[in-house]
Amino acid sequence: MKLRRIKLSGFKSFVDPTTIPLPSHITSVVGPNGCGKSNIVDAVRWVLGEGSAKHLRGGHMTDFIFNGSDNRAPVSRAVAELVFDNREGVLGGPYAAYDEISVKRAVDRDGNSEYYLNGSRCRRKDITDLFLGTGLGPRAYAIIEQGMISRTVEARPEERRFMLEEAAGVTRYKERRKETVRR
Ligand code: ATP
Ligand code: MG
Repeated sequence: MKLRRIKLSGFKSFVDPTTIPLPSHITSVVGPNGCGKSNIVDAVRWVLGEGSAKHLRGGHMTDFIFNGSDNRAPVSRAVAELVFDNREGVLGGPYAAYDEISVKRAVDRDGNSEYYLNGSRCRRKDITDLFLGTGLGPRAYAIIEQGMISRTVEARPEERRFMLEEAAGVTRYKERRKETVRR
């Protein structure tokens, strides 16, 4: 599974529709302080369903909407989309047959989020389920950010267990078991 491109519009500093292609196995993003590098990573975790704005360097969900600059008015909606290469069928379930999978999230000024999978409206849970056990999720290990190494070292045993179980791919089954037992 590979992230092929990221599309942003009205998201933080990316006010105009912007496509960020990720054509090779390694892509570096360079630029001066404050140019929006970390905003790109925020977008990835936001689309994957991060529910806490605090974990995304923001106070409220509406902080992800472009809030204006000296020469641009604020906009009313933020949209971010991730397009994955799924030719190896890593993303399973009903989506295993798709070579490309698009995951999109939008938020408006009322703070309402909408999620889309391959263009169809879905629940946040459909997205978190799809990525559970792949290592790619809002809090999973595929995104290593500043401070995360020390957090891992200092984590409580049960938190560290969650990280290991996610890496081993068993969280998906534990989650399903929990749901079944609840019913
Ligand atoms: P550094 O090199 O310091 O880590 P960076 O390239 O990672 O910088 P970011 O943190 O991604 O920079 O971007 C910060 C910029 O994004 C700031 O200029 C901030 O004003 C802008 N920004 C953040 N949220 C919004 C928003 N909602 N509307 C408009 N601009 C925003
Ligand atoms: Mg940064």
